[in-house]
Amino acid sequence: MKYVKYGQCIKCGKTHEATANLTTCDCDGILDIIYDYEAIKADFTKKDLHHRPRTMWRYKELLPVEDTTTPPPLRVGWSPLYEADRLGAQLGLGKLWVKDDGQNPTASLKDRASAMAVAKATEAGAKVIACSSTGNAASSLAGNAAAAGLKTYIFVPSRAPKGKVAQLMTFGATVISVQGSYEDTFELSKAAIDKWGWYNRNAAINPYLSEGKKTVGLEIMEQLGWEVPDYIAISVGDGCTIAGLWKGLKDLYAIGFIDKLPRLISAQAEGCCPLNRAIESGEDWYPMEENTIADSIAVGVPRNAEKALMAIRESNGIVVNVTDAEIMAAQKLLGQTCGVFGEPAGVTGAAGVKKLCDAGILGENDTVVSVVTGNGLKDVANAIAACGEPISIPSDMEQLLSAFAEHNIVVD
Ligand SMILES: *Cc1c(COP(=O)(O)O)cnc(C)c1O
Ligand SMILES: [Zn+2]
Repeated sequence: MKYVKYGQCIKCGKTHEATANLTTCDCDGILDIIYDYEAIKADFTKKDLHHRPRTMWRYKELLPVEDTTTPPPLRVGWSPLYEADRLGAQLGLGKLWVKDDGQNPTASLKDRASAMAVAKATEAGAKVIACSSTGNAASSLAGNAAAAGLKTYIFVPSRAPKGKVAQLMTFGATVISVQGSYEDTFELSKAAIDKWGWYNRNAAINPYLSEGKKTVGLEIMEQLGWEVPDYIAISVGDGCTIAGLWKGLKDLYAIGFIDKLPRLISAQAEGCCPLNRAIESGEDWYPMEENTIADSIAVGVPRNAEKALMAIRESNGIVVNVTDAEIMAAQKLLGQTCGVFGEPAGVTGAAGVKKLCDAGILGENDTVVSVVTGNGLKDVANAIAACGEPISIPSDMEQLLSAFAEHNIVVD
């Protein structure tokens, strides 16, 4: 890897050779992949991007893969960045964009990390990959691995929504539904990975995953023509996504592609917000109940707390916690004003933006990108709960008329 120097522990600073099956430091600290920015700067220009494939792999100089590695088959990345002018005006923002990352192959941002995991597992010569997940890391790993011909063992908490479990079964993973919390699930997967030596796709253990996730930040900036917005809002569970996003932005700043950095908005659910609570209180994080419908971010023991907290603090970020009712309202709002269908955790960032607008913290002088991290079809039960049931009648015009009258529908 021409541009990767090494993996460096964020806790003790020790450097580790960037082998394909790199995990955590001996001190248990999480590693960060360090690049030779001077060399990248000398070789890589914005113009180089013009003819590259519209996938996450277009930023190869900033990615920790060997030149000889073929990216896994599924098309990951280059999700649309919509100008959400109607919603922006309604919220009173200067400008709003919505990045719909639910349009990845298995319908969440996690595909960016899982595609990277599959690429690195291939480099390591592994045939089996395993992970524990609230659901999306699992379904994205199962899909990307299936496409590349690798076997997967997946551990999910029993609460995982049916859509995600259906994906896992369809992609042929061996699925273990753990009767317990995400924390319980993680612990069992860790013991099994230790026992059988599978390639480890666990969040915050494998340092390459954030490098995949950072491509969401690289894309946002390229799609904005390298004009930096004031804020980027995203939902936070383990903390790998927001840390990855921040890493991508800092990469671009380091190689001179952007001239300043945006502030991050970390959105969590009120019922499970250990990281935002730490920022608000200025104290260390400590575990919290997993009490929210936003299952993907119901993470009581965040696996990447240090990197996430560092990212929020370094960016002079804002934290915002939203209730389940606010998450459900955001699902409806994004659907009705943008035609974007997000799962509860997928729209939590947008719910946070709305809350900050209502509180007068964001307004007409602010430009904001809101990332939708997962697709609503993964969890239809909660979408129906948020947006209601349809009118149900026999095939009869009289009944249609009376149903319209009953629902105060004036036909135009
Ligand atoms: C995983 C996930 C997140 C949060 O990512 P973390 O790395 O756990 O913080 C947000 N939204 C969705 C839909 C996810 O699947
Ligand atoms: Zn260390």
